[in-house]
Amino acid sequence: MSRNVVTFHYTLRDADGRILDASTGGDPISYLEGGGQIVEGLEEGLRGLAAGTRAEIGVPAVKAYGERDETQVQRVLKSLLPIEGEVRPGDQFRAGEDAFAPIVTVRGVEGEELLLDANHPLAGVDLNFEVEVLAVRAATDEECVHGHAHGTGGEKDCGEGCGCHGG
Ligand code: ZN
Repeated sequence: MSRNVVTFHYTLRDADGRILDASTGGDPISYLEGGGQIVEGLEEGLRGLAAGTRAEIGVPAVKAYGERDETQVQRVLKSLLPIEGEVRPGDQFRAGEDAFAPIVTVRGVEGEELLLDANHPLAGVDLNFEVEVLAVRAATDEECVHGHAHGTGGEKDCGEGCGCHGG
Protein backbone atom coordinates (compact mmCIF):
# COMPACT_ATOMS: atom_id res chain seq x y z
CA MET A 1 0.00 0.00 0.00
CA SER A 2 1.36 3.40 -0.89
CA ARG A 3 1.94 5.85 1.90
CA ASN A 4 1.94 9.61 1.75
CA VAL A 5 4.04 12.33 3.27
CA VAL A 6 1.91 15.23 4.45
CA THR A 7 3.28 18.71 5.17
CA PHE A 8 1.23 21.11 7.27
CA HIS A 9 1.24 24.10 9.57
CA TYR A 10 -0.61 24.01 12.86
CA THR A 11 -1.68 26.08 15.81
CA LEU A 12 -2.37 24.02 18.92
CA ARG A 13 -4.78 25.25 21.59
CA ASP A 14 -6.14 23.72 24.75
CA ALA A 15 -9.84 23.54 25.60
CA ASP A 16 -9.72 27.13 26.95
CA GLY A 17 -8.36 28.45 23.67
CA ARG A 18 -4.87 29.13 24.99
CA ILE A 19 -2.15 28.63 22.39
CA LEU A 20 0.19 25.83 23.51
CA ASP A 21 2.33 25.52 20.43
CA ALA A 22 2.41 26.50 16.77
CA SER A 23 4.51 25.85 13.69
CA THR A 24 3.37 29.02 11.99
CA GLY A 25 6.30 31.36 11.56
CA GLY A 26 8.74 28.45 11.50
CA ASP A 27 9.19 25.40 9.34
CA PRO A 28 6.06 23.37 8.62
CA ILE A 29 5.79 19.81 9.90
CA SER A 30 6.18 16.85 7.55
CA TYR A 31 5.24 13.34 8.57
CA LEU A 32 4.99 9.89 7.02
CA GLU A 33 1.51 8.41 7.31
CA GLY A 34 1.50 5.55 9.79
CA GLY A 35 4.96 6.47 11.08
CA GLY A 36 3.82 7.56 14.51
CA GLN A 37 5.48 10.95 14.05
CA ILE A 38 2.44 12.95 15.18
CA VAL A 39 -0.24 12.15 17.72
CA GLU A 40 -2.75 9.53 16.62
CA GLY A 41 -5.86 11.71 16.67
CA LEU A 42 -4.22 14.44 14.62
CA GLU A 43 -3.12 11.96 11.97
CA GLU A 44 -6.67 10.59 11.81
CA GLY A 45 -8.02 14.09 11.33
CA LEU A 46 -5.53 14.95 8.59
CA ARG A 47 -6.07 11.72 6.64
CA GLY A 48 -7.42 12.38 3.18
CA LEU A 49 -7.20 16.19 3.37
CA ALA A 50 -5.88 17.76 0.15
CA ALA A 51 -3.18 20.41 -0.09
CA GLY A 52 -4.67 23.83 0.55
CA THR A 53 -7.23 22.55 3.06
CA ARG A 54 -7.67 24.38 6.35
CA ALA A 55 -9.41 22.51 9.14
CA GLU A 56 -9.95 22.37 12.87
CA ILE A 57 -9.19 18.99 14.40
CA GLY A 58 -10.20 18.23 17.96
CA VAL A 59 -8.16 15.48 19.59
CA PRO A 60 -9.19 14.03 22.96
CA ALA A 61 -6.33 13.43 25.40
CA VAL A 62 -6.59 9.67 24.98
CA LYS A 63 -5.67 10.04 21.28
CA ALA A 64 -3.00 12.65 21.97
CA TYR A 65 -0.63 12.30 24.94
CA GLY A 66 -2.83 9.95 26.94
CA GLU A 67 -4.62 10.27 30.25
CA ARG A 68 -2.71 11.23 33.35
CA ASP A 69 -1.30 8.37 35.41
CA GLU A 70 -1.01 9.36 39.07
CA THR A 71 1.43 6.52 39.74
CA GLN A 72 3.87 8.58 37.66
CA VAL A 73 4.00 11.18 40.42
CA GLN A 74 6.76 10.28 42.88
CA ARG A 75 8.83 11.71 45.70
CA VAL A 76 12.53 11.88 44.91
CA LEU A 77 15.47 13.20 46.92
CA LYS A 78 16.73 16.32 45.24
CA SER A 79 20.33 15.23 45.79
CA LEU A 80 19.76 12.23 43.49
CA LEU A 81 18.89 14.44 40.54
CA PRO A 82 21.14 16.12 37.99
CA ILE A 83 20.00 19.61 38.95
CA GLU A 84 21.62 22.51 40.70
CA GLY A 85 20.31 25.62 42.33
CA GLU A 86 16.79 26.45 43.35
CA VAL A 87 13.88 24.36 42.12
CA ARG A 88 10.34 25.65 41.93
CA PRO A 89 7.00 23.99 41.22
CA GLY A 90 6.43 24.05 37.47
CA ASP A 91 10.10 23.61 36.60
CA GLN A 92 10.77 20.94 33.99
CA PHE A 93 13.90 19.00 33.22
CA ARG A 94 15.04 15.79 31.59
CA ALA A 95 15.24 12.81 33.93
CA GLY A 96 18.52 11.65 32.44
CA GLU A 97 21.50 12.53 30.35
CA ASP A 98 20.35 11.57 26.88
CA ALA A 99 18.11 13.68 24.68
CA PHE A 100 15.26 11.18 24.75
CA ALA A 101 15.01 10.90 28.51
CA PRO A 102 11.47 11.77 29.61
CA ILE A 103 10.69 15.29 30.71
CA VAL A 104 9.52 15.51 34.31
CA THR A 105 7.68 18.37 35.94
CA VAL A 106 8.22 19.50 39.53
CA ARG A 107 4.83 19.52 41.29
CA GLY A 108 6.08 20.40 44.73
CA VAL A 109 9.14 20.99 46.87
CA GLU A 110 9.15 19.57 50.41
CA GLY A 111 12.44 20.09 52.14
CA GLU A 112 15.03 17.86 50.49
CA GLU A 113 12.39 16.05 48.50
CA LEU A 114 10.74 16.91 45.22
CA LEU A 115 7.37 15.74 44.04
CA LEU A 116 8.09 14.80 40.43
CA ASP A 117 5.50 14.17 37.75
CA ALA A 118 6.70 12.01 34.83
CA ASN A 119 3.46 12.37 32.89
CA HIS A 120 3.84 14.14 29.57
CA PRO A 121 3.10 17.83 30.14
CA LEU A 122 0.08 17.47 27.83
CA ALA A 123 -1.23 14.21 29.34
CA GLY A 124 -4.90 14.56 30.18
CA VAL A 125 -5.26 17.64 27.97
CA ASP A 126 -7.80 17.70 25.15
CA LEU A 127 -6.18 19.38 22.17
CA ASN A 128 -7.51 21.49 19.36
CA PHE A 129 -5.40 21.78 16.23
CA GLU A 130 -6.03 24.42 13.59
CA VAL A 131 -4.22 23.08 10.54
CA GLU A 132 -3.39 24.11 7.02
CA VAL A 133 -2.28 21.31 4.71
CA LEU A 134 0.53 22.58 2.49
CA ALA A 135 1.47 19.48 0.49
CA VAL A 136 0.64 15.81 0.09
CA ARG A 137 2.93 13.53 -1.93
CA ALA A 138 3.80 9.85 -2.20
CA ALA A 139 6.52 8.76 0.22
CA THR A 140 9.87 7.73 -1.21
CA ASP A 141 11.14 4.18 -0.72
CA GLU A 142 13.80 5.52 1.62
CA GLU A 143 11.20 7.24 3.79
CA CYS A 144 9.17 4.04 4.02
CA VAL A 145 12.28 2.10 5.09
CA HIS A 146 13.19 4.72 7.69
CA GLY A 147 9.64 5.12 8.91
CA HIS A 148 9.70 8.91 8.83
CA ALA A 149 9.44 11.84 6.42
CA HIS A 150 12.46 13.59 4.93
CA GLY A 151 11.04 17.09 4.68
CA THR A 152 8.52 18.71 2.39
CA GLY A 153 9.96 17.27 -0.83
CA GLY A 154 11.85 14.27 0.57
CA GLU A 155 15.11 16.20 0.20
CA LYS A 156 16.21 16.28 3.80
CA ASP A 157 19.10 14.03 4.79
CA CYS A 158 18.18 12.64 8.15
CA GLY A 159 21.82 11.83 8.92
CA GLU A 160 23.06 9.33 11.41
CA GLY A 161 20.85 6.89 13.18
CA CYS A 162 19.11 5.73 10.03
CA GLY A 163 19.91 2.31 8.61
CA CYS A 164 20.75 3.37 5.07
CA HIS A 165 23.22 6.04 6.16
CA GLY A 166 25.46 3.37 7.60
CA GLY A 167 25.14 4.74 11.07
ZN1 ZN B 1 15.60 8.88 7.44
